[in-house]
Amino acid sequence: MARFDLYVIGGGSGGVACGRRAAAYGAKVGLAESSRVGGTCVIRGCVPKKLMHYGAHFAEMFRLAKGYGWRLGEAPVLDFQALIEARNTEIQRLNDIYLGMLDRAGVTVHADRANVLGRTADGAFRIAVGGAEHEATNLLVAVGARPAKPVLPGVEHTVTSDEILENLYPMPKRLAVVGAGYIGVELASIFNGLGVQTSLILRADQPLRGFDEDLRRHMTAELERHGLDLRRNTVVTGIAPAGAGYRLDTTTGAIDADLVVYATGRDALPNTSQLGLDALGVAMDPLGAIEVDTAYKSSVPGLYAVGDCSDHAGQGLHSGQHDLTPVAIAEGRVIAETLYNDNPHEVAYASIPTAIFGMPQAGSVGMSEAEARSRGHAVQVFKTDFRPMLYTLPGAANRTFMKLVVDADSDRVLGCSMVGDDAAEIVQGLAIALTAGATKAQFDATVGVHPSAAEEFVTMYQPATG
Ligand code: FAD
Ligand code: NDP
Repeated sequence: MARFDLYVIGGGSGGVACGRRAAAYGAKVGLAESSRVGGTCVIRGCVPKKLMHYGAHFAEMFRLAKGYGWRLGEAPVLDFQALIEARNTEIQRLNDIYLGMLDRAGVTVHADRANVLGRTADGAFRIAVGGAEHEATNLLVAVGARPAKPVLPGVEHTVTSDEILENLYPMPKRLAVVGAGYIGVELASIFNGLGVQTSLILRADQPLRGFDEDLRRHMTAELERHGLDLRRNTVVTGIAPAGAGYRLDTTTGAIDADLVVYATGRDALPNTSQLGLDALGVAMDPLGAIEVDTAYKSSVPGLYAVGDCSDHAGQGLHSGQHDLTPVAIAEGRVIAETLYNDNPHEVAYASIPTAIFGMPQAGSVGMSEAEARSRGHAVQVFKTDFRPMLYTLPGAANRTFMKLVVDADSDRVLGCSMVGDDAAEIVQGLAIALTAGATKAQFDATVGVHPSAAEEFVTMYQPATG
């Protein structure tokens, strides 16, 4: 039995960030992780995904290289097992680094599932982990979320991003991905890029609901240009084994695949249930996400929640919005700063940049045009759509799209969207400008980097009319 100042349940992005920072300020911190420290992002999310995104890019680069005079000899061959073994080795290395960082910070790590037993007479939380019981003055719940599959005949034959990004498996010849949010678009792009015949099945007309409509339209066109079989307005009605693979019955015809991936969203529910939170009276939304205020306090004093298992409806955000690693990290740090460094502050949700690591990439920061209008802004819109220089010599048709949404009254830039190479890198810089409240005039006064695609963001001068 140990008594901690802070106990963290969940060693993912938010939990590790908070635990390390709190320990650095002298707090006695315990942390429980039931799987592998690093959490979704490091073990089965952002990092393995980005490594595979890099891996998938080479095929297009080999094709483009010809236009630049390269003669590659024999056709390049992909050793898929080598790719995912290298990926897994790197993830293990990062897992070890995380464990080392926590150790050096003085955080006590319990490699087990934790749950809350209740409170002591003096109000401390009682936590059960690995057959032991510990006490803590403050408790952070940072247990993340899990993939959710709809109820459907044959859905048990399918996998999710967890299996795709953490396991070893043979390369499929044909892949079906159901759901076209971040994960669906990213996984379909990766496998399509690696040469797998890939269908992306979406019930809507466009992927990436919630993003700017022009971004969605350009992304759709570019995904199809890259050879992805986009099955729009299509609902899967059943899945059954067929030959060596599976047959998906859909409202627009059958699709055959060797591997079927469901990417239909992530629920908080499984990770917050059976944690002992109900008995404490912690307020949760219907999916099981813990309701928190701007300081990540739950309805129970001393109990905090951050990241994917938390719900910020009180801040005008809908559940699941900004379920991103840097957000969970920033939220975790706010708690440590508030409790142990007398430095309370808030996360700047309005200018959180985000990127979809598809083929091509897409990125955005701030508001979409529709959101700006729905919030009552009179908007001016600036757009550009061009073939980047890289594609000229090979004669490829790839196009890049950029858009600025500007408040016509104040001239403030409300949102930036982009589809094209390096969108993730570019929107990161734009996010600083939006956090600083930059105006369109200040974008115009900024000198570009030439020749680059990014310079188009400071040279768009003609408002779009249509
Ligand atoms: P998590 O990182 O999920 O950590 C929660 C941890 O709690 C887990 O390790 C879990 O094992 C542990 N846990 C759960 N219950 C218990 C318990 N009872 N006891 C002990 N431990 C427990 N975000 C980005 O910003 N960029 C990206 O490119 C990106 N790509 C993604 C790709 C995929 C496929 C997925 C699924 C997500 C991606 N995300 C990305 C989102 C990002 O991974 C999450 O937003 C982030 O990991 C959330 O951090 P968290 O701390 O809330 O939860
Ligand atoms: P999303 O919520 O982004 O997308 C879910 C998709 O599944 C949507 O296309 C949705 O369609 C569809 N869908 C939902 N239910 C069904 C159903 N019953 N049948 C068919 N389709 C369905 O979730 P993801 O799982 O892609 O990602 C989860 C979160 O993880 C993201 O919101 C993001 O916060 C984070 N993430 C971030 C990444 C990044 O930063 N690059 C990468 C990956 C994940 P519809 O639009 O019609 O509702």
